[in-house]
Amino acid sequence: MIIDNFEEIKNNLYPVIIVGSGPAGISLALKLEKQKINCLILEAGKEKYDHQSQQFYEGIVIGDSITNLKHSRLRQLGGTSGHWGGWCKPMDRYNIESWGLDYNEISEYSDETCDILSLKNNFSKSQLNNYFNQIQFQYSKVRFAKKFLGIIQKSKYISLVTNAHVSHFIGDNGVVKSVSVKINEKDYSLKSKIFVSSCGGVENSRILLWTKELNNNLINKDIPIGNYWMTHPWIIGGIGVIKKKKLRKLLKDKFIDHDGPLHIATSSNIVSEKKILSGAIYMNATEDNKIYKEVIKDLLCTSPEYGKKIAKKLFDKDLKCGNIFMNLEEEANRNNRITLHKNIKDKNGIPITQLFYKKSPKTLFSAKTIMQEFGKFLINKDIGRIALKKEIENLENYENLGVHHHMGGTRMGDDLTKSVVDKNLKVHEIKNLYVAGSSVFKSSGYSNPTYTIVQLSLRLSNEIKKKIS
Ligand SMILES: Cc1cc2nc3c(=O)[nH]c(=O)nc-3n(C[C@H](O)[C@H](O)[C@H](O)COP(=O)(O)OP(=O)(O)OC[C@H]3O[C@@H](n4cnc5c(N)ncnc54)[C@H](O)[C@@H]3O)c2cc1C
Repeated sequence: MIIDNFEEIKNNLYPVIIVGSGPAGISLALKLEKQKINCLILEAGKEKYDHQSQQFYEGIVIGDSITNLKHSRLRQLGGTSGHWGGWCKPMDRYNIESWGLDYNEISEYSDETCDILSLKNNFSKSQLNNYFNQIQFQYSKVRFAKKFLGIIQKSKYISLVTNAHVSHFIGDNGVVKSVSVKINEKDYSLKSKIFVSSCGGVENSRILLWTKELNNNLINKDIPIGNYWMTHPWIIGGIGVIKKKKLRKLLKDKFIDHDGPLHIATSSNIVSEKKILSGAIYMNATEDNKIYKEVIKDLLCTSPEYGKKIAKKLFDKDLKCGNIFMNLEEEANRNNRITLHKNIKDKNGIPITQLFYKKSPKTLFSAKTIMQEFGKFLINKDIGRIALKKEIENLENYENLGVHHHMGGTRMGDDLTKSVVDKNLKVHEIKNLYVAGSSVFKSSGYSNPTYTIVQLSLRLSNEIKKKIS
């Protein structure tokens, strides 16, 4: 149900209040509905993009530059899924297991996750060698507002209020009693049994930091809210050519034969043996004709015989040729952190976000190692050739092409001096406050985050069901 006149229902008691209606919040609400549990979603934005609402996402970044925080998320119904790319893939088992979670605890939600994201649950993986796998992404076209608005409208269990700006949670002695929210310029304090913050990979930290500041006796001061913030560096690692037929021959029936891009990812072996972070190599589905010529010209100068072979392959249309993009894991560094700005506040009087962010030297080293090892594999099997970007080869720099994934800040763990939520996503030492979204990721892996966000939200609904019953 969409609530137009909040005054009429302001005294209703909802057992669960969810803050935010992005993929994390809506997935949780949909699963609670299946379990016949009522919830109220408080969404700050409107049903469509609204410039005024977006202003609340203003933030300041100190350190290395990243995509403007106002542009890399959307404050509206459906959240940032309103303009996401839709690349989806479960995180690798070895990435999840470092979180203290059993992989099966989230993989059991794969079918439901695919239903929500309108995907085939088909993420093949085939081993190239000890260090690399060919992997498969699926591409979701789901905009959460568009797909689920009608369902929410008709729902008996989900109630939604838009234009409802949550400021903070109120409580003491380990219990949240209410949430403070401004709806149509009026302030309310709403009670519930369970509260979930699902406001995205920056706002979850901001709301909890503000909650800590306004409540003397609710959140343990040692809990590192805002710390260990991460993104996925998305960079060009170099250029190269790969012979598709030969790759197919090598992988036999395990070759992931589809018309999409070519995706190769690190295995756990290279990560542990070379002491690097995980990452993936991506080559476009369509050949880049301009780069073709450049690569061939270079090859003819440095290695004329090989250059001729490659030129011939061009006519056979057998080459994957072009820029080699990389999506990389980023180190979880305690100093990369979200804080509240000391002087600047938004229109509702909440301090804006101040993010300290420095690129990690380990990510640079990992990018170089991955490219080098992949290059060696191509030479050994005579499948292709690649060239590293100079800045990466010399360990000088990598250029982030876009920073759109926001992870960490309310990370998962057992130790309350190094984490904010436990593995059930409950804030340490608080009985009834949960966090959903990529802010709970303990490490980033290399896979895009939303698939895992949805899995975790579905799992959270079971935790909430247990708690309520
Ligand atoms: C350009 C771009 C491309 C992307 N491409 C991909 C991709 O290909 N694959 C992928 O997996 N991910 C991608 N992402 C990331 C993806 O969009 C996010 O991972 C996902 O949207 C996060 O879901 P969420 O529900 O946690 O947060 P959000 O989607 O950000 O939703 C948070 C919700 O909370 C609401 N909210 C915030 N503050 C408050 C408040 N104070 N009170 C009430 N409500 C509040 C917001 O309005 C919003 O509706 C991309 C992001 C961008 C910007």
